[in-house]
Amino acid sequence: MYDVNEVRKDFPILSRTVYGKPLIYLDNGATTQKPRCVVDSIADEYYSVNANVHRGVHFLSQQATELHEAARETVRRFVHAGSVSEIVFTRGTTESINLVASSFVCSQMKAGDEVIVSVMEHHSNIVPWQLQAERYGIVLKVIPMNDKGELLLDEYARLFSERTKLVAVTHVSNVLGTVNPVKRMIEMAHGYGVPVLVDGAQSIPHIPVDVQELDADFYVFSGHKVYGPTGMGVLYGKEKWLDRLPPYQGGGEMIQKVTFEKTTFNELPFKFEAGTPDYIGSTALAKALDYVSAIGMDQIAAYEHELTCYAMRRLKEIPDMRIFGEADQKGSVISFLVGNIHHFDMGTLLDRLGIAVRTGHHCAEPLMDRLGIEGTVRVSFALYNTKDEIDILAQGIERVVEMFC
Ligand code: PLP
Repeated sequence: MYDVNEVRKDFPILSRTVYGKPLIYLDNGATTQKPRCVVDSIADEYYSVNANVHRGVHFLSQQATELHEAARETVRRFVHAGSVSEIVFTRGTTESINLVASSFVCSQMKAGDEVIVSVMEHHSNIVPWQLQAERYGIVLKVIPMNDKGELLLDEYARLFSERTKLVAVTHVSNVLGTVNPVKRMIEMAHGYGVPVLVDGAQSIPHIPVDVQELDADFYVFSGHKVYGPTGMGVLYGKEKWLDRLPPYQGGGEMIQKVTFEKTTFNELPFKFEAGTPDYIGSTALAKALDYVSAIGMDQIAAYEHELTCYAMRRLKEIPDMRIFGEADQKGSVISFLVGNIHHFDMGTLLDRLGIAVRTGHHCAEPLMDRLGIEGTVRVSFALYNTKDEIDILAQGIERVVEMFC
């Protein structure tokens, strides 16, 4: 196991205080903190290499292009894609899903065709499909779950019809922590000849992912949730699918030849990357992926699993604690409510103790409806959190409970 105290030294922000208390950052599901190597990469590239990529014959442009394309190779290796042409840079998970929704629905679906999503999706894997539904008359079907927060695979199987054209499902729930059996779900979908998009926003930072092993058709994630920069994301798509989809946006970079009569498009992945890409961000994302790879995704997964089990035990000792999401396969996210204390009050008072948690519906309102609640308090761990921090969290919750008694 890696030395968490050594790792923490790589994250300068973790040594700051909030309201005079040491910061305890437990909002990693929203975004992770950045190691020095990622922040340095941004400054270094601006200071010493900055030039627009792909277009210049001059030295800096070529060097920036090499860094940008090397970053694509780093991403390819990280998710074990077969080719760099299957790695499209986007602004994040949200944009990746919007890209697929926009290009897939208009080219592969007709009115009355169906997309299957699950009840535990983040809004960014619901609303893009609804926008297309309004435009093209497609239909959304929803996989239900049991009270532990596990998707019901029998019900899932029953949702398929000859009109099903795509499944879009999250790998790990950002509210319940459930690690969905996406490999099995993909196998089932492929049995009906249906491709699958996996939302990897909450899996990529925490567990090893091999897109070929999963046989995912599309796999999407955000850089900022895996210790990388904001505004940087990835769409992995099988070449056979990306080839079939029309461009998402038009502009420079994505074209081969433009005339007023007709435009032809660039090869993959550039067909989907209109305009100047975030080449500074791509290098920084690659640094982040190299950083977690050096620690080892298996090690990170094992360490976070231990943290989560410990936190579940500690939180369950608190009277009137209600935890939402007790799946057998659970990632490092815990959502809870205590007694009648409003999640917002709990979050605000924990904040005063230096403990950053998230409160509210977590961009998963349909899931909140299924749970019959308005919102939860959510703690989400990263590779740098410690059991000591969990003890302070548990004591903090107990203090808040006392204040309400
Ligand atoms: N999907 C899941 C499961 C998420 O947790 C999030 C963000 O919290 C997103 C999608 C959206 O990610 P982003 O805002 O980085 O595009």
